[in-house]
Amino acid sequence: MGLRFFRRNGNSADSHSRRNGDGAVPDVPQAPADGGKRIVLTAPLTETIDHAGYFIQMGMASLPIWMEPVLNNKYPNWRDVQRNPDGSARFMPAGARLVETSLLREFSAPDIVACYPDDLDKFIGPNTRVVAVTTHNPLGVTFAAGVYTSIFGSSKQPINSHYARLMFEKIKASPYRRNFKVIVGGSGGWQITQTNSFEDLSVDCVVEGRAESADSMALFHQAIRGEELPREVNVAHPTRREDLLVPDRRTTFGVVEMTTGCGRRCNFCVPDLNPQIDMPKEKISFIDG
Ligand code: SF4
Repeated sequence: MGLRFFRRNGNSADSHSRRNGDGAVPDVPQAPADGGKRIVLTAPLTETIDHAGYFIQMGMASLPIWMEPVLNNKYPNWRDVQRNPDGSARFMPAGARLVETSLLREFSAPDIVACYPDDLDKFIGPNTRVVAVTTHNPLGVTFAAGVYTSIFGSSKQPINSHYARLMFEKIKASPYRRNFKVIVGGSGGWQITQTNSFEDLSVDCVVEGRAESADSMALFHQAIRGEELPREVNVAHPTRREDLLVPDRRTTFGVVEMTTGCGRRCNFCVPDLNPQIDMPKEKISFIDG
């Protein structure tokens, strides 16, 4: 059979689970020297990578994990991510950057870090009170993922889901897990609530809505005070242009949000339930990362 392109060159999913950027669970994580960041932001590796065009992220969302060697063979460097000198992520999904920007209104920069899953142990420590995850496809139960993974024999675990699970396992296994809350946001939060995967993934709270919301910020303050969080929260959407934030740190693929909502009013469309607001042009800036 024509399986030679799956050649065993050390790029199997299992062998990669010990390589750079994959969120693998280390045996004995060491506490960060500074006690860790109060707020740690992260996202699954496959939703964060910033090269090989959009296709590879689409492929990760649709192909089952057993086909990962195909992508490994074609894009052997897909896991190579760039870091800032302090070890934080040089690029993150736009949603994670928006959370970061929102938090910087109320918390000091040294309290916050956005990092890749593989670097969580460098930033989670006894001082950590919140680990916030942004994800659009944590369990791979989207329509496209179901269809395409089924074509290849299994709808159970797209590559995205595999890497999201590695990230959640790593957070769950942290020796400091009792000290912090795990808050999940992003367009994939519903996958956790609708499958009741809170315990499985060790998630305390899923937020539906935008990070700018005062309700979103209130959750972080609650978590930092050590209070229990509600399992699910729907937060208010901003209704004024001036309340929308535009991140000025590098986003994956350089994504810049231009509008919320849509305005065409297709009556089956959930995003269109949000108010249609354009970002003010003067707020959109481009940072050379
Ligand atoms: S489906 Fe939604 S996003 Fe697409 S045109 Fe209709 S309202 Fe707009």
